[in-house]
Amino acid sequence: MKRLIILGAGTAGTMMANHLQHELDTNEWEIQIIDERVEHHYQPGYLFLPFDIYQGS
Ligand SMILES: Cc1cc2nc3c(=O)[nH]c(=O)nc-3n(C[C@H](O)[C@H](O)[C@H](O)COP(=O)(O)OP(=O)(O)OC[C@H]3O[C@@H](n4cnc5c(N)ncnc54)[C@H](O)[C@@H]3O)c2cc1C
Repeated sequence: MKRLIILGAGTAGTMMANHLQHELDTNEWEIQIIDERVEHHYQPGYLFLPFDIYQGS
């Protein structure tokens, strides 16, 4: 079994893992993704917060 390790489970790492999952033969390749955090949050709307333009209902 070949092992491919992705360092960083942020935007680039999670996209790469999902992409390679479809491209590589999973009987031949094991994909591991390593991060110091257990969760990754991606919400483009977060950008409204530092610029103080969020308008909650
Ligand atoms: C509030 C906000 C809103 C944004 N909105 C948008 C948007 O609308 N559209 C857009 O295109 N972009 C947006 N961005 C930018 C976008 O989030 C970044 O460009 C993108 O996340 C970069 O991806 P990355 O994989 O390089 O880094 P990250 O997503 O930051 O991932 C890096 C990962 O590496 C891990 N890591 C780092 N060092 C170590 C270590 N030593 N050991 C283990 N793990 C480690 C981190 O925990 C992290 O999970 C926004 C950013 C912010 C802050």
